Amino acid sequence: MVTILMDQEIRNLIALETKRQNNGIELIASENYASQEVRMACGSILTNKYAEGYPNARYYGGCEYVDQIEKIAIERVCKLFNVKYANVQPHSGSQANAAAYRALLPNGGKILSLVLNDGGHLTHGSPVSFSSHLYQFVHYPLGRDGKLDYNKILEIAKLEKPDLILAGYSAYPYAIDFKKFKEICNEVSCLFMVDMAHIAGLIAAKLHENPCDYADIVTSTTHKTLRGPRGGIILTNNENIIKKVNSAIFPYYQGGPLEHIIAGKAICFKEASTKQFQTYANNVIINTKTCKDELESLKIKVSGTDNHLFLLNTLDSYNLTGLEAQKKLENVGITTNKNMLPNDTLTPKETSGLRIGFAAITTRGCNQNDAKIIAKLIDGVLSNKLAENYVKNEVSNLTKKWLKIEEI
Ligand SMILES: *Cc1c(COP(=O)(O)O)cnc(C)c1O
Repeated sequence: MVTILMDQEIRNLIALETKRQNNGIELIASENYASQEVRMACGSILTNKYAEGYPNARYYGGCEYVDQIEKIAIERVCKLFNVKYANVQPHSGSQANAAAYRALLPNGGKILSLVLNDGGHLTHGSPVSFSSHLYQFVHYPLGRDGKLDYNKILEIAKLEKPDLILAGYSAYPYAIDFKKFKEICNEVSCLFMVDMAHIAGLIAAKLHENPCDYADIVTSTTHKTLRGPRGGIILTNNENIIKKVNSAIFPYYQGGPLEHIIAGKAICFKEASTKQFQTYANNVIINTKTCKDELESLKIKVSGTDNHLFLLNTLDSYNLTGLEAQKKLENVGITTNKNMLPNDTLTPKETSGLRIGFAAITTRGCNQNDAKIIAKLIDGVLSNKLAENYVKNEVSNLTKKWLKIEEI
């Protein structure tokens, strides 16, 4: 613990953020609470070390320990996802995607993906992301039911002849059939990439099909359902591809690796291989479904769910934009994020709905009964049926019961 405080200003803000994380119901689907052990590694003296390059092939001396740490991280992640090769250096999921595209495609290569508004990610071809400037993106639509329509994807793939098909999303509440995607890729002779950022934890727990069995390249974040430090990874079974990935990460896109974060990743991979983590991931799915079912029984329009998130149509259900709904919930200590719904009629600033996920609060010990209460609170707030103070009190009762998040 730091005892002599140089920077009280920042320290105070960290203390306030700790309080916020403890006192609120965190329903942002991309967030989680990394363990204290992971956080300690991330705050360790490893941050002092330069280690450009890869284990046993660094551009700096003094790398004998960080080499071991990075090798352990690689070994563990390969075992966890049953894959041959890994790069654990990407600073984020977006960097991982940039390097994956670079490894697989020439500039201007054609990628078939899901558009951001339908649940894809910024790096899947958004005009405000590097991705659309370096590559040519075309998109497959979702079916009327909001689900992937594999016949339609095949049809578009035949028409567009992409170099690469991309699966894996930021706001898609259903299971993804990677085998079917691979069959489509085989039929049109293109590469297959999966960005499993959101569902990596469910895959690690064997509660979702593993894309490493089918894709040429798999990218992920480590901080969402996988519950590790903020960062990215790239996985492949192809020796030639990992060589290209490694040079795309360093020296092309990144400089020195964050060995403190890589140590945190190594710990996260060990945690994610335990029976306790499987139980956790299973509880995430149960809690998400319980909350969604409860809202549905109240005649609320929701879509999903096979995984850790669902979408709530606030416009049809409460005549509120996603932004208005997000603000109302935030006011009582329930954190969500506005999200575009498939075929949304409003702008990304407003949106017609919310994305709601249970990965974070399940880590803190949210159970099925709590998930039901949360559904009633969400409905009560958005419909104005429950008084603000009553809800604030209920939020406080729940969060006090759960695991406390330590500041360091
Ligand atoms: C979160 C996410 C990313 C990017 O992660 P960052 O670490 O924020 O860059 C990439 N792809 C998908 C599908 C995501 O959900």
